[in-house]
Amino acid sequence: MYRTHTCGELRLANVGQNVTLSGWVQRVRNLGGMTFIDVRDRYGITQLAVDETCEQKLRDAVQELGREYVIRATGTVIERASKNTKIPTGEIEIQVVEVTILNKSEVPPFTIEDDTDGGDELRMKYRYLDLRRNPVKNALMLRHRIAQEVRKYLDKQNFVEVETPFLIKSTPEGARDFVVPSRMNSGEFYALPQSPQTFKQLLMVAGFDRYFQIVKCFRDEDLRADRQPEFTQIDCEMAFVEREDVLSTFEGLAKHLFAEIKGVEFSKSFQRMSYSDAMNLYGCDKPDLRFGMQFCDVTDRVKGKNFVVFDSAEAVVGIVAPGCAEYTRKQLDELTLFVQRPQVGAKGLVYVKLQADGTIKSSIDKFYSPEELKELATFMGASQGDLLLILAGERKRTLPALSELRLEMGTRLGLRDKNVFAPLWVVDFPLLEWDEESKRFYAMHHPFTSPIPEDIHLFESDPGAIRANAYDLVINGVEIGGGSIRIHDNGLQQTMFEALGFTKEEAEAQFGFLLSAFRYGAPPHGGVAFGFDRLCSLFGGSESIRDYIAFPKNNSGRDVMINSPAPIAQEQLKELRIALVKE
Ligand code: ASP
Repeated sequence: MYRTHTCGELRLANVGQNVTLSGWVQRVRNLGGMTFIDVRDRYGITQLAVDETCEQKLRDAVQELGREYVIRATGTVIERASKNTKIPTGEIEIQVVEVTILNKSEVPPFTIEDDTDGGDELRMKYRYLDLRRNPVKNALMLRHRIAQEVRKYLDKQNFVEVETPFLIKSTPEGARDFVVPSRMNSGEFYALPQSPQTFKQLLMVAGFDRYFQIVKCFRDEDLRADRQPEFTQIDCEMAFVEREDVLSTFEGLAKHLFAEIKGVEFSKSFQRMSYSDAMNLYGCDKPDLRFGMQFCDVTDRVKGKNFVVFDSAEAVVGIVAPGCAEYTRKQLDELTLFVQRPQVGAKGLVYVKLQADGTIKSSIDKFYSPEELKELATFMGASQGDLLLILAGERKRTLPALSELRLEMGTRLGLRDKNVFAPLWVVDFPLLEWDEESKRFYAMHHPFTSPIPEDIHLFESDPGAIRANAYDLVINGVEIGGGSIRIHDNGLQQTMFEALGFTKEEAEAQFGFLLSAFRYGAPPHGGVAFGFDRLCSLFGGSESIRDYIAFPKNNSGRDVMINSPAPIAQEQLKELRIALVKE
C-alpha cells in the first residue's frame, strides 16, 4: 500500500495512529540528532521526523534523500513540540519507522517553492515541475472548480453538452485558421475551428434547444499576454429566445460563478450600455467601470483662441483626474510620454491643474485666460484639487488614446482593485465595419449575427448604420464573453452575405450546409461564448491567462516543453504530398 492518508490530511485528532504517506521530498533538514523531511503531494505538506537512534537501514535511506525524490514513509502521528501555524498539518509530525525511496530525482532546475528562482521560459520548459508549485497548482484547481460550477449551472438549466468536431473547414471568426492537411484527400485541408459557431447553430436546427460545450478553439493570431493560439470557450446556444432570454440566462451563470467561486453576490442586474455610449464615454467597447472618469467632449468650447492644436482638431476630449492637481512636472512629463507611446498614439497632452490655493496652472496658459480655464473645468465637472487631462486630434485616434490614459490614471490612483468587480453588458454593436483598405464591409461579430429588426431596411441605404443584435459581457475592462441573436432566415442570411461582398456562389460554396439547414425549419436562436481562460484569470486575479492553462504556449506560439511546432519527417510530407518551399 502506498498511502493511508494524503500529505495534507493529518491533524491533532490523528495523533497515535500508524500511517503511511507517499509524496515528493520538499526539503531535508538535519538538526543534529534529528532529521526532518517535508513530504509534499497535491494536498499539502507533512513533516516527517527521524530520530538518529533509529535502525541503520532507515538512517541510510534518509541519508540518500534529495529534493524531489519520491518516497513512501510509515510511522506514528505525534504532536509537534514546535508547531507551525502556517500550514494545516503544522501541529503534528510523523515519527518515522520506515522510508522507501520509490524513485530518485535529478536536482530540479529551479526551486519548487511558492516563490521560485526560475524564470518564465525555464519554468515553461519544465512545466510539469512548475505545476508542483502551489500558485500554479492552485490556478488549475480554480479552473477545475469553475468548470464544474459551469456544468452544474447549465445542466440545471437543461443545457446539453455536445462535442463538435475539430477537423472542419474554415469558420469565419475573423482570425487566420490553423490548417491540417488530409492524407486521404490529397491536396485538401481541414481547418481547426475558431469556434463551434456553425455547428451550434446546426444543433439548434436539429432541435437540441439548449447546447453548451467547454471547448478548445484555435486562432492563428499574433499573441499577447491574454491570447493563446488554442484557448477554451464556454460555448452556448439556445433556441426560441430573444436577446433578453440569453442575457438573463448567462447573467445568471455569471452570478452563480461569482457567488460560488468568489463569494460575491450581485443583488442588482448587470449594467447595460450601448456600444455608442461606451465609445463616447470611455473610448472603447470594453470599459472598466470600477471607476468613473467619463470622457467630456469639449471640442465646441475650446476653438477660436488661436491654439492650433485645438483649432485644427476634429475632437478635443478630456477627463478629470480627481485630486491630482499637485502632480509634479515629472509626473506630467511621464503622462505625456505615456500618451505618445506608439501603442497609445497621441501627439501630446494638455493639462489644467486646479490648484488647492485656487490658482490655475496649465500647459495652455498662453491661449486661455484663467477665467476661461475655470469655465472649462466647471463644464467638465472638476473641482479644486483636480487635474484636467485633454487630448485632441482625429476622433478615431483620440478616443482610444484617452481610453488608455484613463486606465493609466485609474491604475495610478488605485481605482482598479482586483477584488472589486464591475460587470457590464455592452449591446447594440454595429453589424458591419467598413474596411478602407479592401473597400468592403466586414462583420463586426460574425456573418450569422442578426441585425436589430428595426434596422434591417438600412441594408439598402446605409449598411454601416445597422445595429447588430449582439452583446458582450465585460468585467473590469476585460471582454469575458460575446454573442448574438442569429439570423435564422435564409433570405436575410443571403442579404448579409451580399453585404459582406460574397456572391451567391461563394456563399453557397462556403456556407451551403448552413443555408441548406435553414431551409428545413431553423428555429429563432441565439447564443454566447465566454473566454474560459480569461474568466479563470479574472477570478484568480492574474493578468495572464497562461497561468490557468496546464501546458501553455509562449509568446511566439511555441510549446517549449515538447518543442513544438517542429519539422516533420520527409516520409510524412511525402505521404501528404506536400513539398516545402525554401525561402
Ligand atoms: N462564436 C462566437 C465567438 O467565438 C461567439 C458567439 O457568437 O456565440 O466569438
